[in-house]
Amino acid sequence: MSEQQKVYPVTPELAENAWINKEKYLAMYKESVESPETFWGEQGKRIDWFKPYTKVKNTSFDPHNVDIRWFEDGTLNASYNCLDRHLETRGDQVAIIWEGDNPAEDKKITYRELYHDVCRFANGLKKLGVKKGEVVTLYMPMVPEAAVAMLACARLGAVHSVVFGGFSPDAIASRVVGSDSRVIITADEGLRGGKHVPLKENVDEGLTNPAVKTVEHVIVLKRTGGDIAWHDHRDVWWHDLIADCADECPAEAMASEDPLFILFTSGSTGAPKGLKHTTGGYMVYASMTHQYIFDYKPGDVYWCTADVGWVTGHSYIVYGPLANGATTLMFEGVPSYPSHSRFGDVIDKHGVTIFYTAPTAVRALMAQGEGVMGDTKRTSLRLLGSVGEPINPEAWQWYYDKIGNGKCPIVDTWWQTETGGILIAPLPGATDLKPGSATLPFFGVQPALVDAEGNILEGETEGNLVLLDSWPGQGRSIWGDHERFVQTYFTTYKGMYFTGDGCRRDADGFYWITGRVDDVINVSGHRMGTAEVESALVAHASVAEAAVVGYPHDIKGQGIYVYVTLAEGFEPSDDLRKELVKWVRKEIGPIASPDVIQFSPGLPKTRSGKIMRRILRKIAANETEGLGDTSTLADPSVVDDLIANRAVK
Ligand code: ATP
Ligand code: MG
Repeated sequence: MSEQQKVYPVTPELAENAWINKEKYLAMYKESVESPETFWGEQGKRIDWFKPYTKVKNTSFDPHNVDIRWFEDGTLNASYNCLDRHLETRGDQVAIIWEGDNPAEDKKITYRELYHDVCRFANGLKKLGVKKGEVVTLYMPMVPEAAVAMLACARLGAVHSVVFGGFSPDAIASRVVGSDSRVIITADEGLRGGKHVPLKENVDEGLTNPAVKTVEHVIVLKRTGGDIAWHDHRDVWWHDLIADCADECPAEAMASEDPLFILFTSGSTGAPKGLKHTTGGYMVYASMTHQYIFDYKPGDVYWCTADVGWVTGHSYIVYGPLANGATTLMFEGVPSYPSHSRFGDVIDKHGVTIFYTAPTAVRALMAQGEGVMGDTKRTSLRLLGSVGEPINPEAWQWYYDKIGNGKCPIVDTWWQTETGGILIAPLPGATDLKPGSATLPFFGVQPALVDAEGNILEGETEGNLVLLDSWPGQGRSIWGDHERFVQTYFTTYKGMYFTGDGCRRDADGFYWITGRVDDVINVSGHRMGTAEVESALVAHASVAEAAVVGYPHDIKGQGIYVYVTLAEGFEPSDDLRKELVKWVRKEIGPIASPDVIQFSPGLPKTRSGKIMRRILRKIAANETEGLGDTSTLADPSVVDDLIANRAVK
């Protein structure tokens, strides 16, 4: 049986003990799409409102009037929901476990401590005149102060815009210009894999860009004590700013539709888009998905390995878990430092029960071969999650067997920066698992597959993934450019939200993301997603990672160009090339036969770890002059190597 057909049924134990079982899922799902007002009117009460809402849903996907509002007449505060409301019941419970880059450094912060830290820093921000509605830019390492800064902004009603700490000075500048930030929060340096990341220096350089005109204050957290330049008129130490601040600070009452944050997409398919997320619907959706999809229960130690610079970090390190009163682990380092067993080490050290990571990390560990997890046991784990890209069935299986010891369900969660929270994923007590499938929609989510003309396709089929109606966590606009929001998501198929992803639905109604619609390959009239061919390649013992793109081909229209990174212990050769072609023919069929295979030591990835096929497509087509927006590339040198070693056709 190939991995793709394997099914892991819900275990009786989970069916019994998880929040949601199969019957409950079906009943709740039905209500959520048939009576969204009633359903969400009830679910909205899971968070605390200063003034309760009376209106629940007011949304339109009409391209002439895209307007999305949830709980619009209620008022609340996100920071209050993550902190104040827990003080009485779990003030002394650990809110954040911090694990440093250096395994000897860690820290535990209780809800009460976090509350006071946030209040104190919010008072510090007030001293700088930070007000409701203004945008504050964060450029931070993965330290608890990143969460403190986010929650302090939310407390005052300021809109945070987190710029991932791996981005360049130019990226900081362009994001600051787009948001007119007056205040930037950063640290002297970050630490990742034992190396120092010059955060303050990058900010200094970004601010020399003449287009940046608004910045008045740079707040600097002392993380490493490394040498930095100082500008007295502008820079202030975090510890100096809060030295005389009170540790109580009232939480501003925000309208449900007041913005909570701006966040940029990863930039896989083009220039990143700065999504605007608002308060009420987002909080309801982040906390609800966190509880049910991860089957979070009091006592769990929950670890999401994302960076707070990505939406996964916003919704599933900070807002979702803290709204639920969970213990959330924040990790400063990288999976390969000081050794490749670091994930296992951290899981054992802190007794992690729920672990959420990305396919890129799983494939990187898998490529290290047997024994990569060292002598770690990982017996505390009970649930695993995946996000960011389709997880190849082979990688799924490895994750299941080697990290989860063959006993933890994997929730493969499909969603986007735009969606605010997870839209398609299994519920551990309700949904059977199929390796490589994100399975079924969450409550209130109405996926559909459409053809190029926007006709809805029924049953077992393949098409473009759209969403037919709004859900509370949905992004409301692109900051400062509502027209781009409408153009990007609502004009391709009238009345529907277009995700940009291709997808297959199987006979059981399960969804399988096949890759980006932009990346679809058309070989002799046959349309193919990238995920299937890549998964076939990854299933070969020699292949650590593969990326597949189309390139102009005289006879077939498009040929299949494959980039392959080999696992430890394998060397490129013509024989291996032939073997891989044969392998794909056998796994999928002659139509998917690679025309060209280029072995490469690395693949171009976004800084969030996703393969950027648009760049590989240009290289394959020998259009290396105009590679498009490369600002989100993690390692630009990979591209030079790929161009230099371009396989000649
Ligand atoms: P940009 O929109 O700038 O091109 P991006 O789409 O990579 O960048 P994100 O919002 O970080 O930015 O990623 C969302 C995309 O990631 C989805 O549209 C999908 O293509 C992919 N994705 C996320 N999770 C999954 C998953 N579980 N399975 C398959 N694909 C996934
Ligand atoms: Mg996208």
